[in-house]
Amino acid sequence: MIEFQHVFKSYGRGVNALTDVNFRVAAGEFLFVSGASGAGKSTLLKLIGGLDTPSRGVVQVNGQDVGKLPPRARPYLRRAIGVILQDAHLLNDRSAFENVLLPLIVTGHSPAQASSRARAAIDKVGLSGKESLRPIALSGGDQQRLAIARAIVNRPAILIADEPTANLDHDSAVRIVEVFRDFNRVGVTTLIATHDQALIAAYANRVLHVAAGQVTERKP
Ligand code: ADP
Ligand code: ADP
Repeated sequence: MIEFQHVFKSYGRGVNALTDVNFRVAAGEFLFVSGASGAGKSTLLKLIGGLDTPSRGVVQVNGQDVGKLPPRARPYLRRAIGVILQDAHLLNDRSAFENVLLPLIVTGHSPAQASSRARAAIDKVGLSGKESLRPIALSGGDQQRLAIARAIVNRPAILIADEPTANLDHDSAVRIVEVFRDFNRVGVTTLIATHDQALIAAYANRVLHVAAGQVTERKP
C-alpha cells in the first residue's frame, strides 16, 4: 500500500532530510514513526500524503508513484489519505461541525449526505454534543478528535498523523491513540509519528525509527 524505494529528500543545498529510505507498509497496518525532533518524521509523512515529492527515488502510495503524478492528479491522491499535520489548522471562525463538513462539501457531496456523514464522523471520534462549539472552545484532546474527524470524513484508506498527542497528558494521549485504533480496526492503514516512548511501548506492533534522515525497523 505504501512503498519507499531509495528515497532521498533534500531541502535546498545541504539539508538532507531523508537519505536512502526503504520500507513497505501493507494495507491495514498500524504503525508508529519514531525519532527525535528534526530527524525527518514530518518529511516522511508529507511524502506519503502527497504534500511533497521526493528529490530522488520512488514513493508509491495506493499503487501510484507520487513523484510522477501530474499536478492535476495530486488532489485525488490526497483525498485517499487522511492527513493530520502538527498544526491542525482548525477553522476557529466555524463550528466543530462545519470543520468536519467542509471536506465533504469540497468533494461534492450533497448537503444532506454531507451532514449525515459529518455527524457519523463526529460521533465516531467521541465529540457528540460538542458540534456547535468553536475549536478554540475545545480541550486539546477534543481538538485532536476534531482533526481526526475532519481527516477521516472522506473515508480515506490511509490515515497519517504527525505528533497528534504532542500537547496532551498521558491519559489523553492514550485516549487519542484509541480513536486511531478504532479506525484501524475497520481497515484504515494508520501511521502515527511520535517521540513518546510510553505510547510506542503500549501500542506499537511495528515501529519505523528515523534518525538523521535514515529509517530503520525497530522492535517495539
Ligand atoms: P521531524 O518531523 O522529525 O522533526 P522534519 O522532517 O520536520 O523532522 O525535518 C527534518 C530536517 O529537514 C530538519 O533538519 C529540518 O530542519 C529540515 N526541514 C524540514 N522542512 C524543511 C523546509 N521546508 N525547508 C528546509 N528545511 C526543512
Ligand atoms: P455512515 O454510513 O452513516 O457514514 P458509518 O458508521 O459507515 O456511517 O461511518 C461513520 C464514519 O466513519 C464515516 O462517515 C466516516 O467519516 C468514518 N470512516 C472513515 N473511514 C472509514 C472506514 N474506512 N470505514 C468505516 N468508517 C470510516
